[in-house]
Amino acid sequence: MNHTKIAVIGAGAAGMMAAYRAASLGGNVTVFEKNNMVGKKIRITGKGRCNITNACDNDEFIRNVPTNGRFMYSSLNGFTPWDTIDFFESHGLKTKIERGNRVFPVSDKAADVAVTLQRAASDAGAVFSGHKIADVISENGEIRGVILENGEKRDFDKVIIATGGKSYPLTGSTGDGYVFAEKLGHTIIPLKPSLVPIESPDSFCRDMQGLSLKNTGMRVVNIDSGKEVYRDFGEMLFTHFGVSGPMVLSAGANIKNPRQNKYVMYIDLKPALSEEKLNQRILRDFEKNINKAVSNSLGELLPRKMIPVVLKRWGVPFDTKCNSITKEQRAELTALLKSFSINIKGFRPIEEAIVTSGGVSTKELNPSTMESRIVKGLYFAGEVIDVDGYTGGFNLQIAFSTGWTAGESCVGC
Ligand SMILES: Cc1cc2nc3c(=O)[nH]c(=O)nc-3n(C[C@H](O)[C@H](O)[C@H](O)COP(=O)(O)OP(=O)(O)OC[C@H]3O[C@@H](n4cnc5c(N)ncnc54)[C@H](O)[C@@H]3O)c2cc1C
Repeated sequence: MNHTKIAVIGAGAAGMMAAYRAASLGGNVTVFEKNNMVGKKIRITGKGRCNITNACDNDEFIRNVPTNGRFMYSSLNGFTPWDTIDFFESHGLKTKIERGNRVFPVSDKAADVAVTLQRAASDAGAVFSGHKIADVISENGEIRGVILENGEKRDFDKVIIATGGKSYPLTGSTGDGYVFAEKLGHTIIPLKPSLVPIESPDSFCRDMQGLSLKNTGMRVVNIDSGKEVYRDFGEMLFTHFGVSGPMVLSAGANIKNPRQNKYVMYIDLKPALSEEKLNQRILRDFEKNINKAVSNSLGELLPRKMIPVVLKRWGVPFDTKCNSITKEQRAELTALLKSFSINIKGFRPIEEAIVTSGGVSTKELNPSTMESRIVKGLYFAGEVIDVDGYTGGFNLQIAFSTGWTAGESCVGC
């Protein structure tokens, strides 16, 4: 039995994994969680299904972590996505691998992930305490303990800060860890939303609100530099403020300062067809409906909500008969469908982001242990650190790998 007294602040993905690992190795672990339930954020992940991790190798994983991916090498080697799968399977949660190597619980219930983590940590000996931590105390560069919200001081040899980011604050991630870290001398890299819906000034987005497009191509171009910053294929959604959906969230991670730089998103509505093939297809549709208005002849090509928007942008009156559409007009429609432009104004606020980018500077942490280089006995795990990945299970894996590493190293293994 190792008598190291360890406080874990936050019972999210990172905190519970850290608590499990430290307690399994004999640490005397207390997990502090201010919510009246653990893993509140886990329960809403993956649209309630929780995309636990991504079943890929470590190099592929790092390619999907655009912010400080290299910082993850060591902890990812120590606890890989396959270890995450083994962990859940060995604790009774069956998993399955879906498209894009995304791993989900077979039950499709995110709550099962939170419950499994809590049970594993409790069974290993970690104690859960329903207190909010108000401060973390150090003396002469060494950790001493924590102060509860009621002012009570508790002594600990080691403290793991796993308080999450600043997104979806109703789940408990209100940024407390950044305040603790800064007070203890750490640099906080400015916070910004990542994996966040995008705002557009184009009113047609609102007109198509609720319309979800599948199997769509997307390019995002920085108009000032002319550089393409993102290209993908997948799902997106029109909303009252602009666009959202998996592909849009990932695109956002590649867009820098959208309020200062001009970006345009180009949607390819028919990625399986070349321009020539699409032109022929439109011609066939028009020939079939030769005496009908164009507005009544696009139903097989486009979703209903999109037809008035496309007609307006095409500039051809709604009641124009198909037989009077010229070759040039058909070419214009083809070009519009292959490259439907959407102007980008900015991001939705950090509260609506899937993850918070920025946070505790990775330069001030030892990547092999997650220990602070500034305060001895202080560790960080999860989203509070300045590391973030794309959608696909990468962010939870970041929490699991850093949590595992912090838990292991604070008992001195
Ligand atoms: C809608 C949504 C869907 C997502 N889907 C996925 C997905 O499918 N796959 C994926 O990989 N990632 C997903 N993510 C991202 C992922 O959920 C997070 O990156 C991950 O949960 C971060 O884990 P964490 O433990 O660092 O922080 P959190 O899970 O946020 O946990 C932090 C915990 O600390 C507690 N806490 C904070 N301050 C204090 C304090 N002072 N005292 C005590 N307790 C405190 C909080 O209450 C909270 O429980 C999603 C995020 C959102 C918002």
